[in-house]
Amino acid sequence: MSAWFSQLAANLEATAAQGLYRARRVLATPQGSVVQVDGNRVVNFCSNDYLGLANHPDVVAAFQAGANCYGVGSGSAHLICGHSAAHHALEEELAAFTGRDRALLFSTGYMANVGIITALLGAKDAVFEDRLNHASLLDGGLMSGATFKRYAHGDVGHLQGQMAKATGNKLIVTDGVFSMDGDFAPLPALVAAAKAADAWLMVDDAHGLGTIGNHGGGILDYYGLNQDDVPMLMGTLGKGLGTSGAFVAGPALIIETLIQKARTYIYTTAMPAAVAEATRASLKIASTESWRRDKLQALASHFRAGAGQLGLQLMPAIAADKTNPEAVVSAIQPILVGDSERAVAISNALLKAGFWVSAIRPPTVPVGGARLRVTFSALHETQQVDGLLDALATIMVNHPPTFK
Ligand SMILES: *Cc1c(COP(=O)(O)O)cnc(C)c1O
Repeated sequence: MSAWFSQLAANLEATAAQGLYRARRVLATPQGSVVQVDGNRVVNFCSNDYLGLANHPDVVAAFQAGANCYGVGSGSAHLICGHSAAHHALEEELAAFTGRDRALLFSTGYMANVGIITALLGAKDAVFEDRLNHASLLDGGLMSGATFKRYAHGDVGHLQGQMAKATGNKLIVTDGVFSMDGDFAPLPALVAAAKAADAWLMVDDAHGLGTIGNHGGGILDYYGLNQDDVPMLMGTLGKGLGTSGAFVAGPALIIETLIQKARTYIYTTAMPAAVAEATRASLKIASTESWRRDKLQALASHFRAGAGQLGLQLMPAIAADKTNPEAVVSAIQPILVGDSERAVAISNALLKAGFWVSAIRPPTVPVGGARLRVTFSALHETQQVDGLLDALATIMVNHPPTFK
């Protein structure tokens, strides 16, 4: 017992020595462009509340009305007695929003990804994942027991080589907008590769949903891809939509299979019905108020231009289409720093200057790939972005790279 304790202590010390120690900061306010953290008011550039809906009055009111109507706890899993009219209506609205047969709610995105992949694949099958996929997608692939291959980031040729050697049912899995890089999966090429190899494609659009596409339909909307092209679209509710939970949308046969077989769906309590009611309200705002997406685009583009002038190392968090080479900018605009300790030092200095930007370090990103993950919200103002750029200009110089 005491030996085990000393092991844990040594591990924590080693983590700290590498600049990889993680600590929570305590928030005293709702999400918004300005928040109070550890007693100080700072501009928040690290939230995934891209459209500014987490504390929107209509969403809060829908949540309260939902609690008045359904209470707080849902009482059980969906398949026992926890599936309320609110959940059911939200599923129908998500299916319509994504243009798919049906949608199925999960309590979290992590659970959705694990549940979908493990329900569809077994030991005789094969799963192919982009190297930079979200941890929940990788975990789902590993837990499925299928042959598990990771292809180089965005490298469709590499994927095709791996698929050529595979047997059984083949599933390709990718983030739509990559969570820590902000770049876009090469979806048209992935769809073509999937069709040619008789594989299915699953897209996790946690960061595209609400933020891109004509009505916020996400990356599939942007590229004009339907349910035949991408049978499984997974989306989260806790980011652009500002609430909590997740869903998968696709053909009825797949949804029905997941209801029967996805363990993270079956063996867990349904999300509170009030969360479903709040999400119905936020979905309405997200799909109709396109000014939120336009503003997000403008802020992120403004930041890219300013950071470029400062010589900061941006990432290719931008997608082009045929008509406009700079058509869509991601709400995630990381600045590559490299060294973890330097990334933390810069993040701490920014916080002191009144700007909250999180340092993302391994194992969330590859070793040597530490970065400042700057994210934007429709609630930011241009002058706040300028303030961040000014602070970065000084602080990056004061924290030069160290060569070890
Ligand atoms: C956040 C995220 C998830 C997990 O969603 P939660 O609802 O937070 O569990 C899954 N995939 C991606 C790409 C994400 O960014």
